Amino acid sequence: MPTDLSGQVGNAFSAFFSSALVQLVLYSIVLYLFIVWLAAAYWAFRDMHDRTENPVLPYVASSLIILFTPFLFIFGVLVYKVIRPAERLGEVYERNLAEEALLAEVEAIKTCRGCDRRVEGEWIICPWCRTRLNRVCPNCERLVGLDWTICAWCGKDFERVAAAVPDAAGAAAHAGLGPVSSGQRTGGRIINTKPAAGG
Ligand SMILES: [Zn+2]
Ligand SMILES: [Zn+2]
Repeated sequence: MPTDLSGQVGNAFSAFFSSALVQLVLYSIVLYLFIVWLAAAYWAFRDMHDRTENPVLPYVASSLIILFTPFLFIFGVLVYKVIRPAERLGEVYERNLAEEALLAEVEAIKTCRGCDRRVEGEWIICPWCRTRLNRVCPNCERLVGLDWTICAWCGKDFERVAAAVPDAAGAAAHAGLGPVSSGQRTGGRIINTKPAAGG
């Protein structure tokens, strides 16, 4: 009989505890689901905020999660994940930056006007086709662009010389490309010196 009694007491206790525990566990699960539901709605708001500049869409996204109730919101999350914009704004910005950097890199590669080969920025003349790339300022001996009218380094005015330089460069290029003969060489020299003497 003592086993029967202790069994009955044990049953009563376990029934009491189990019902209380079950209630507590159920209550905790519901509370937890409620918290996760609200957290998911907040996550959807933040996530959409990162993906669009539209001020209304984040609220629409979190409302979608709310509408799916604390018990079914996981399906709302799935729907949201399917329809949300694929890229974050930060990713779009980074991609644009990378594309711009690539373009700038391509544009920074200098090529010869005459033969389209790659040339160094500090070269004065193309070693392949003999096209003039830069010239040297006669005053400060720094590199200046062919189209500059005044030296950016020392302020020397090229206005008078500028008209002569393309002729001289063209004559030099012709002399270099054409067949080598003493007559042309002297001709080139005469053309080269003429504008300098005139100006
Ligand atoms: Zn060239
Ligand atoms: Zn100069």
